Amino acid sequence: MEAADNNSHVFADYAALLRAFLPQVRGFYCYGKGGASLWSEVSNPTMPLTPAYEAALAALLNEPSANAARVELAGAVAYLVALRNEKDEAIAALAILMPADALPMTADGCAQLILPASRTLQRELSLRVRLLEGYRKLNVQATEERLLHDVERAVQGPPDSEAMLVRILALCSHYLQVRSAAVLIPDKSIALVHGAALTEPELTLLRKDRGESPAGESGDLYTVRIRGADRARIGLLVLAGWNGADFSAKRRSRVGRYIASHIESVLERCYDSLTGLMAWPVFEKLMATAVAASAGPAPALIYFDIDRLHVANDTLGREVGDQVLASFAAILGEEIARHATTRIASDRFAALLVDTDLKTAREVAERIAARFSRLEFGEGDRRYRASVSAGIGSAAPDHLLSADDDAPVDGGALATAQIACGAAKDRGRGRVEVYQPADLSIVQRFDDIQLVGAIRNAIDNGRLALVGQPIVRIKTGADGHDHSYCEVLVRMLGEDDQQISPSEFLSAAERYQMMEDLDRWVVANTLELLSGSLARLAPAKARFAINLSGQSLGSEAFLGFVQQQLERSRVPPEMLCFEITETVAVANLQRAQTFMHTLRKTGCRFSLDDFGTGLSSFAYLKLFPVDTLKIDGSFIRDLTTNVVSQSVVAAVSEVARVMQLETVAEFVQDEATLTLLGKLGVTWAQGYLFGEPTLLAERIASVTEMPGVAGLHRSADARGA
Ligand code: C2E
Ligand code: CA
Ligand code: CA
Repeated sequence: MEAADNNSHVFADYAALLRAFLPQVRGFYCYGKGGASLWSEVSNPTMPLTPAYEAALAALLNEPSANAARVELAGAVAYLVALRNEKDEAIAALAILMPADALPMTADGCAQLILPASRTLQRELSLRVRLLEGYRKLNVQATEERLLHDVERAVQGPPDSEAMLVRILALCSHYLQVRSAAVLIPDKSIALVHGAALTEPELTLLRKDRGESPAGESGDLYTVRIRGADRARIGLLVLAGWNGADFSAKRRSRVGRYIASHIESVLERCYDSLTGLMAWPVFEKLMATAVAASAGPAPALIYFDIDRLHVANDTLGREVGDQVLASFAAILGEEIARHATTRIASDRFAALLVDTDLKTAREVAERIAARFSRLEFGEGDRRYRASVSAGIGSAAPDHLLSADDDAPVDGGALATAQIACGAAKDRGRGRVEVYQPADLSIVQRFDDIQLVGAIRNAIDNGRLALVGQPIVRIKTGADGHDHSYCEVLVRMLGEDDQQISPSEFLSAAERYQMMEDLDRWVVANTLELLSGSLARLAPAKARFAINLSGQSLGSEAFLGFVQQQLERSRVPPEMLCFEITETVAVANLQRAQTFMHTLRKTGCRFSLDDFGTGLSSFAYLKLFPVDTLKIDGSFIRDLTTNVVSQSVVAAVSEVARVMQLETVAEFVQDEATLTLLGKLGVTWAQGYLFGEPTLLAERIASVTEMPGVAGLHRSADARGA
């Protein structure tokens, strides 16, 4: 037992008073709650204590009925007297040490003897205890407030994930004086410890901690569960070696919960809730750091864009769409460390590879794309086949940026990866492209911004032209007539009136939401051209196909616009066929369906363009009331040599026959293909074999009563294959 002489001056007077009652006394000890020494005045402080002494002391402090005890020690006798407050609670115990040969007394006799002195001491102590308790409470309160305030400040500013969590843990260590403060989130591979490492027994306990109560305690191991966005437990805040005696259980759990909730909000801000990958702002910061620190090869950035996710969303529901994203994130997290991956937004992801050359990065991206493409969602004809396009950029600033004040902190990695991904999409999706500054289609994307101005100008000032490409009948229609049929295509006029093809400006127009304006221009101008020649066109049963973009089909006002144009031009609706792509159509399923149903009732026809390239193409036939399937050119170009293409065309043709739809084959460039198409039962053919697109006005002017199919394609365009 230690002498607590820091209180001596306070107790000196009481000691003198006690001595007046007990002249032979060898010493006094005063114990507070829990047996802690409050004060002692003793000639021989190293007095050995016996278990009986300890037991008697404990009884006096804890048992309301115990008042005094007498304990024999080696060469001494100890009289123990309880000191109580006004509420009769034991707040301290006084031990009086007498020589063994002193006049023997009973315990109660001793207590009685010193009563006047012990009463005063009692009052003094009770006051002091209250004072101390008040002081301690204030102190704890202040500690709690400072801790909470500092934690609050620590989580402000842009989230930087682990650094933020470490700051919170450091504050816990500092204010709560814990040996170790830790955050463990297994799913996010987070295991952060501030202070000493957790001991093996502690870790064993933690593994067993099921966190069923909001806060669990095991010895001095204090845990609070960390919850995810769905309130399910995802991990633990651990405070080890916390002598939380000053903190009431209530306060302790309040503080623990408060810190845990801040950790939760940091996690929420730092990680994407759906996929668990790094949130974009955190990733961006990491990327900037990595680029600034890289000494070896410039970090490579892979940009992923899930292909046609809206197909999954629209046909299978958002939940399945979320599943698709989560599945992709899981693959990404497995192939590349989780902390190096992010979901940028909706269906776009990125991964940073440090010390990796572009070739390796490409292999990684290809492996991910391949794994993902093996997944399938939904069933039957409502199915989404997973596919992702990826682009790889490098943070080498010389790629595209000169010494520029606006140079991005990532050295242009994101921009270049994004561009490469755009190229991957353009080239058929489900593939990986590495950014190459010399790549033409990529350079073209850089000019997007300038293009946008040109497109705007073209639409506003009529710097556009309409061309038409003939579509010819392969077999005679059921009604025995051949129609004049042609697809209207748009061209932009360059500075010296040269025609600029849609492939050069449509993607920019799409990205900058200009497609509806463009389509309106095409519809209005086509109808105007037609309205001037109705007398000649009607008997020829001429049919004109107009392409519509998804942006128009998804626009509320577009249907009204078309109806109004039809009325004004007096062009019979039967003369028009709208070509839509299935991707476009499903992007806004309901509106597309309304558009189609309404116009079909008036007599307009619809074709499903690029048929066969989309996912589960046949499934959409049930959703869209179309009259014609335009088999994508990629199946026609190699039809004579590729058996896969042949079976696709045969299947499409068969389905069309059963559903009483017509089929058009695009990109027919030679006779052999045409012959084969005839055998496969395809209805119409379009392609350079019959003619390239030429000015629509001239084409309309040349329409007369249609000649028989045999002679048509040669005579119309006089173009050898
Ligand atoms: P699409 O609807 O699939 O049109 C067919 C494209 O293939 C046209 O290119 C046509 O010129 C080309 N083509 C036709 N036969 C052959 C052939 O035998 N060989 C080759 N190599 N090409 C052939 P174009 O005119 O450049 O149009 C490209 C795409 O731009 C169109 O694909 C269509 O999606 C879009 N587009 C064109 N005009 C318009 C328009 O007025 N409005 C909208 N919304 N989109 C349009
Ligand atoms: Ca088309
Ligand atoms: Ca097409």
